[in-house]
Amino acid sequence: MLGNLKPQAADKILSLMADFKADTRQGKIDLGVGVYKDPNGLTPVMRAVKAAEQRIWENQATKAYTSLAGDPEYRDAMQQMVLGDTASGRVASVATVGGTGAIRQALELVRLANPDTVIHVSDPTWPNHLSILNFMGQAHEMYPYFDNDTRGVAFEAMLDALGRAKKGDVVLLHGCCHNPTGANPTAAQWDEIAGVLEKTGAIPLIDLAYQGFGDGIEADAQPTRMIAERLPEVLIAASCSKNFGIYRERTGILMALSDSDKTRDLAQGAMAYLNRQNYSFPPDHGARIVSTILTDAELKADWQQEVEEIRQTLLSLREQLAQELRDLTGTDRFDFIARHRGMFSRLGATPEQVAAMRQMAGIYMVGDSRLNIAGLNRDSVPVLARAIVEAGV
Ligand code: PMP
Repeated sequence: MLGNLKPQAADKILSLMADFKADTRQGKIDLGVGVYKDPNGLTPVMRAVKAAEQRIWENQATKAYTSLAGDPEYRDAMQQMVLGDTASGRVASVATVGGTGAIRQALELVRLANPDTVIHVSDPTWPNHLSILNFMGQAHEMYPYFDNDTRGVAFEAMLDALGRAKKGDVVLLHGCCHNPTGANPTAAQWDEIAGVLEKTGAIPLIDLAYQGFGDGIEADAQPTRMIAERLPEVLIAASCSKNFGIYRERTGILMALSDSDKTRDLAQGAMAYLNRQNYSFPPDHGARIVSTILTDAELKADWQQEVEEIRQTLLSLREQLAQELRDLTGTDRFDFIARHRGMFSRLGATPEQVAAMRQMAGIYMVGDSRLNIAGLNRDSVPVLARAIVEAGV
């Protein structure tokens, strides 16, 4: 039976990691996988996470099951962090296996409600979105998103395509820090996106995986909150992997907002049912770390400060890289790097140029020219800038 299985293509980013490891050159630079690294190339456990784990170790009296939807304290704390006070009373939620689990459960929920739903996805998007949609056999279409000339959002084309969505379709949006491009709509453009959703009756599914890495914890939640206020039904898949640095704990949440108590309760029941079918109780350790931090003023303040340090590190690397490229080229055509937000920027280089940078300088970025800004430090930025120019980007 198992012999009938077909070989699966290796995940591109994970095989890039393996190639990087095998490269014996000194000074090689890993700009591949989407993990935050400090200037020393480490992904440390955050201070507040360590403190929360200690408290949990000291105080936790049982590891008996929580509930199918996960711990209510975690879900309340996450609702508050993502939505503030905008949607109280309208939210059904379940803890999930990371942000990926939240996206998968959101798509399962959509399929349960209407198997023929078309999902609209940005072109490009995080490859796992497409991989999951294809695996599920869920109908989907791409909407234009990235303008390769300006390296900003192709807003007119995006709006135009979203305007053609049908009532009941689902539009997958990156709430902040778009992956893989780093290009994001402005506040005014988000307003227009909400307007189009209102007009078409399409339902937003917001993927929020980098809250705090763009313009700040509150600012990054703003588009999601605005959409939550204006639209009757909204799905939100949030991840704690990056902003709490708890990647391997698999901590996420799916929230479903509706405009009546009856629908909210139906959604809550369906989401708990879906958890049961897929993995039963969601993992609790990461969720408990998050709720311990978010419900304690001191831990929360320390965590907020560390997230802000990460954000500032990313921003100053962006500024430095844009400045180096200004100096080397005598133009401002790479200033988009400073305008992009989050961990990634799409450089707009060809696959040949990406390969040349790898061969010449041992710089590893994803084939679509997505670079992880956190893979840089003050010393490697000039090396990258020179390679970009030498490769003819
Ligand atoms: N959405 C996007 C856009 C992401 O980049 C990621 C992480 N790479 C996720 C969701 C999910 O992350 P995780 O499952 O690790 O929480």
